[in-house]
Amino acid sequence: MIPELLQSQKDYFKTGETKNINFRKKLLKKLREELVNQENAIIEALAKDFNKPAFESVLTETSVVLSDLDLMIKNIKKWSKPKRVIPALLNFPSTDKLYSEPYGQTLIIAPWNYPYQLAIAPMVAAIAAGNTVILKPSELTPNTSTLLKNIIDKVFKPEHVSVVEGGVDVSTKLLEQRWDYIFFTGSVNVGKIVAKAAANYLTPVTLELGGKNPCIIDETANIKLTAKRIVWGKFINAGQTCIAPDYILIQKNKKEEFYIAIQNEIENAYSKNPENSEDFCRIINTKNFERLKNMLVNQKCIVGGITNAKNNYIAPTVIDEPSIDSEVMQDEIFGPILPVISYKDENEIESIISNYNKPLSLYVFTNNSTKAKNIIEKYSFGGGCINDTVVHFANHRLPFGGVGNSGIGAYHGKLSFDTFSHKKAIVKKGNWLDLPVRYAPYNGKLKTIKKFLKWI
Ligand code: NAD
Repeated sequence: MIPELLQSQKDYFKTGETKNINFRKKLLKKLREELVNQENAIIEALAKDFNKPAFESVLTETSVVLSDLDLMIKNIKKWSKPKRVIPALLNFPSTDKLYSEPYGQTLIIAPWNYPYQLAIAPMVAAIAAGNTVILKPSELTPNTSTLLKNIIDKVFKPEHVSVVEGGVDVSTKLLEQRWDYIFFTGSVNVGKIVAKAAANYLTPVTLELGGKNPCIIDETANIKLTAKRIVWGKFINAGQTCIAPDYILIQKNKKEEFYIAIQNEIENAYSKNPENSEDFCRIINTKNFERLKNMLVNQKCIVGGITNAKNNYIAPTVIDEPSIDSEVMQDEIFGPILPVISYKDENEIESIISNYNKPLSLYVFTNNSTKAKNIIEKYSFGGGCINDTVVHFANHRLPFGGVGNSGIGAYHGKLSFDTFSHKKAIVKKGNWLDLPVRYAPYNGKLKTIKKFLKWI
């Protein structure tokens, strides 16, 4: 079924319909209308899948997609137009232009943690850029996945955009095909599988992956505000956020004050018993619940540490000084557990951070701007914030993506459109002048060309 569907998309792409800007706009508007109509159903599906609060679903899923759609609809025409660039004098006389061309057949593989937004947002960009799309949502959020399929089936012809549901087996079959672009969001390990599959056909890829994101607090930081912003960024989606702060590095003399502040902020946000809070998500499945529960063994919990297997609940938890060899400090945590490690000086910060691959994000809380600048410039990471967490995601003018192990490529805003467009470079040569110097025979022209090259 997959090869046939892909063939139908190839045949359809050849008709050229997806290259028509008005056609793209019309369909994106139709999609927008359907997504607005279905907003309650989307919120319900997300709640069924992992108890996601309606507030978080609107803030981090539906509103993000709608503003992305608005941006695309408003700018498709401008972004698709060939752009004139300054010509090289070497080519004089010429007019030079960049054409944005759709790649063709694109595959988007999405994760479960923001199962709506991380599926639809790249899909919208792929459509805006004139591609066909096959979208594979995560099998771990079946309610959202089925709803996505119903919505897409209603708005698009299958030969233009299709949702193929399923797990690893389906994903593997999809990856065996020849694509013109693959956009993958998920774990580092699966990212490597995707990169290998793409290499078979030299298919370009975007890999939006994860990492162990440090959050550094120094003695000049406003501890109360720092704790509040960390609690929000860490425990939203129950810590199942690729850019959530993974672990805290705090200057030793501020640790106790931070513990008091973070305990207060967790209680303010989720009450004394977060299990009863309507604002706190559950862990996606038993496998991840068990993985996270194991991280708590033999740890000193300053806050939380409570779990309930019946509903995959793990309390917002703060761990004091885990050893660097402990389970919780091995890989990305991806759950509501926050280890805190204190440091004396910047060498100690470095000795911890250097244990890990380049993370997707890094946060630094300080009132010392030189220190902030030094840290931002010293470490390599995807993106981040000074004195906040996670919010860099919200600016569509900033690229969103990792570096090294945390990913390849970036998107958001215009960059999403560009991600799904091949930039074709065209020089249109004028015929009214044809400088003879470049043509063979070269005999006697070396001096002239050297002078000319120096001059331009
Ligand atoms: P995952 O890698 O397990 O799954 C992602 C997708 O890949 C799913 O659709 C899944 O069906 C498919 N898949 C899983 N195993 C596969 C295999 N062996 N072969 C082919 N396809 C396979 O990731 P996840 O658990 O859904 O998401 C969590 C991870 O994603 C975390 O590491 C997180 O940091 C990362 N993430 C990154 C971003 C980002 O924007 N950088 C956003 C969200 C999540």
